[in-house]
Amino acid sequence: MTKLLLVEDEASIAEGLTITLEAEGFEVAWVKDGLEAVPTWERVRPDLVVLDLMLPGMSGTEICRTLRARSDVPIIMLTARDAEVDRVVGLELGADDYLTKPFSTRELVARIRAILRRAPIQEIAGEEAPVEVGGVRVDRARHEVQVDGAAVDLPPKEFELLAYLVEHAGRVLTRDRLIDEIWGSDYVGDTKTLDVHVRRLRTRVEADPHEPRRIQTVRGVGYRFADA
Ligand code: CA
Repeated sequence: MTKLLLVEDEASIAEGLTITLEAEGFEVAWVKDGLEAVPTWERVRPDLVVLDLMLPGMSGTEICRTLRARSDVPIIMLTARDAEVDRVVGLELGADDYLTKPFSTRELVARIRAILRRAPIQEIAGEEAPVEVGGVRVDRARHEVQVDGAAVDLPPKEFELLAYLVEHAGRVLTRDRLIDEIWGSDYVGDTKTLDVHVRRLRTRVEADPHEPRRIQTVRGVGYRFADA
């Protein structure tokens, strides 16, 4: 059974989520104090962590930092409305996605399933199996891209960027993370480079590059490749 760790101090939210998530077939461990999060993670070894940011005892960002230093467990953050700074900090610390309160439980379940679907692909180090999401197929081994069945030739950086986006479909990827991944952490060039590459990619993979559906902009944070 898939195990989730829910770190949330508001009982009304946590109880509702637990009931729904259990009905969806997940096993849920719930802690309400930030200080209990890491010890419970150690004991339960969940498949995914749903982490509120504003917590008594230890903040969500601190918990995220601690977990990420020790594990690749997927983390979805729950943030207050307007707390864009927390959101960006959390994503920079390695959270995989976030939801802004109030959110629908259905949306949370969809995000959890999307991340768990992708997780095993990334755990296979060196594995270069082709990945296909929403009609875009990337084959790293053959260095081939197909969009809706048609082969598309891409320059190396655009290929790398598209491959990374598709392999992490459904997740929010910060600008810094993308620049680190594609251009390297010692990259000192113009950060507009990323936007230029995204713009070019959209002309190749979007039906209408001005109304992108596949490569979505997450305002103030980065980009997300739509997973459906
Ligand atoms: Ca809270």
